[in-house]
Amino acid sequence: MVSSVNVLFSAAQTVLIVYAHQSAGSFNAAVKDAAVDALKKQGCNVLVSDLYEMKFKATATEEDITGAVKNPEHFCYGNETMLAWQEGRLASDIVDEHKKLKEADLVIFQFPMYWFSVPAIMKGWMDRVLTLGFAYTLEKRYSEGIFRDKKAMLSFTTGSHETMFSSNGINGDMNVTLWPIQNGVLNYCGFQVLAPQIFWAPTHLSSEAREGLLEGWCARLQGLLNEAPLTFPPVDIFDEEEGFQLKPEVREKHAESHFGLTVGHHLEKPLPPHNQMKAGV
Ligand SMILES: Cc1cc2nc3c(=O)[nH]c(=O)nc-3n(C[C@H](O)[C@H](O)[C@H](O)COP(=O)(O)OP(=O)(O)OC[C@H]3O[C@@H](n4cnc5c(N)ncnc54)[C@H](O)[C@@H]3O)c2cc1C
Repeated sequence: MVSSVNVLFSAAQTVLIVYAHQSAGSFNAAVKDAAVDALKKQGCNVLVSDLYEMKFKATATEEDITGAVKNPEHFCYGNETMLAWQEGRLASDIVDEHKKLKEADLVIFQFPMYWFSVPAIMKGWMDRVLTLGFAYTLEKRYSEGIFRDKKAMLSFTTGSHETMFSSNGINGDMNVTLWPIQNGVLNYCGFQVLAPQIFWAPTHLSSEAREGLLEGWCARLQGLLNEAPLTFPPVDIFDEEEGFQLKPEVREKHAESHFGLTVGHHLEKPLPPHNQMKAGV
């Protein structure tokens, strides 16, 4: 009995790193390699989807389906790919990623920030691999999402300095920038979202400072799988009958609070500080 419990808790965790950088000499490559090493040393099974190396197709098109599509006059990607997924007619590169995703306990998205978001090839991975039915349905999303037993996080480099991505900085608050991907993609599919790992402007640092960033990342990786996730509101505080608005009793409860609930659910109040950057706020 004791040994079966031990086996249960000591089962190797699988980490999928979805990685998007063109160059093996880049800082992103160094960050990815450090993660592979550190996680393997912890006994994790590490899978890497190196998107540029794979020449991963970024566009969501009819070619993602083998055989006839249901409605060629008005091709609807979500519905058609859900049907193809159910019938085993999805493109093999999507099926391969589905297999990795099913195995993964944690997914790390490693990338350089492009236009306040992920590079197109990584957005293409999200568009194509997070298939309707496989990754979400209208009934199974957010806190009731399909991947609610999995974790995911963004790990990325910027060109801008941290001061530029503050609420007083020229780019605006990084918490706001993170909301669409962390809430609209990861939390939407049910993932428990870990705090992002941000490497601010590595290009503008000295070699020693960059090595310091990698050491900090390796230190974080030691406890990464046990970290508490960021906080997002559960679906049951929204009223479906009222167009998924916050329930009146929840609004009342927060009427006196100084801050909104999250970056998105701000209730016309100041944003809760570090809402998308730190667990527990
Ligand atoms: C289309 C596009 C859109 C962009 N949009 C944005 C945006 O919206 N916001 C923003 O802030 N930035 C933006 N950028 C900038 C981009 O985010 C940065 O250029 C990128 O994040 C830098 O990361 P890198 O891995 O490419 O750095 P690299 O230039 O590859 O690396 C930086 C330095 O680290 C060195 N290095 C490599 N390995 C190691 C190691 N092991 N130890 C120490 N040093 C090492 C490299 O030699 C290099 O000198 C954009 C860039 C592009 C091309």
